[in-house]
Amino acid sequence: MSERYDIAIVGSGPAGLSAAINAKIRNKNIIVFGSKDLSSKIVKAPKINNYLGLPGVTGEQLKEHFKKHVEDMEIEITTERVNNIYAMGDYFALMVNDKTYEATTVILTTGIEFSKPLPGEMEFLGRGVGYCATCDAPLYKGKVATVVGYNKESVEETNFISEIVGKVNFIPMFKDEYSLNPNIEVIKSIPKEVLGTDKVNKLVLKDGEVSTDAVFILKDSISPGQLVPGLEMDEMHIKVNRKMETNLPGLYAAGDITGKPYQYIKAAGEGQMAGLNAVSYIDNKN
Ligand code: FAD
Repeated sequence: MSERYDIAIVGSGPAGLSAAINAKIRNKNIIVFGSKDLSSKIVKAPKINNYLGLPGVTGEQLKEHFKKHVEDMEIEITTERVNNIYAMGDYFALMVNDKTYEATTVILTTGIEFSKPLPGEMEFLGRGVGYCATCDAPLYKGKVATVVGYNKESVEETNFISEIVGKVNFIPMFKDEYSLNPNIEVIKSIPKEVLGTDKVNKLVLKDGEVSTDAVFILKDSISPGQLVPGLEMDEMHIKVNRKMETNLPGLYAAGDITGKPYQYIKAAGEGQMAGLNAVSYIDNKN
């Protein structure tokens, strides 16, 4: 049987890390999912003037402060992407590629994705469009898959699926360097629309189109409604109360994902509230 964590924190931005340190101080058994760089929204900030105690800090410097803090507290970041979370009654099941993690409570701190879906993206979701290439690749053995990659993690996923599907196209939507398997075709263009009949058959680009059976759109975050079935939303944000509780008992949310202002210190503050309230929830259960 797999280990059951007290708290699974999804996201390693200021909200997730603040939840993590507070839960750790209270001796809870936690797992934090996120990325090596913590959050693209931290490292990209040129200069931050409104983080208490650190005026003028750059995003890179803030990342180093956060990293040192969590490392000193022996909090590890599991650099895996959570694809689905299911409320199982007494616990939550978190699906991560071919693995399942279990936790009594979950804190969602996945940030906010501002980009709108492509025309056709929602229409063909589950019928060729997907957000987890490694999960769905076995469906496209011998077929063509096109990955629209918004981050460096998407490169790893693309390399992995190139060993499973017939042909892979990769459309990089970020500027960093990357290293792809030689059998992957890189298309430098901008996706405009997903087309198909009953299933996807084409991706229209700014300057042309590609025939494809699958379109994988790999961004930093996916919509929380897709991540957690049954989660109550308030338009694009997760609905929470003052305790950062969602409509699902044991599931908390914090940071940009709960609404404006989209700011580091608001995210860190909410992360703390979610962390402490998740701790109380567990203590009251025992
Ligand atoms: P994020 O920092 O967005 O973190 C989300 C985390 O969730 C990431 O670690 C991501 O990898 C992870 N994640 C998402 N989905 C999954 C999944 N399915 N599985 C596992 N992990 C997942 N704010 C200020 O206060 N002052 C500023 O000066 C400022 N400048 C900014 C400059 C720029 C260029 C940008 C982009 C933002 C700036 N912000 C600033 C806003 C600030 O970055 C955000 O408000 C803050 O990062 C929100 O924190 P968060 O923890 O809610 O989410």
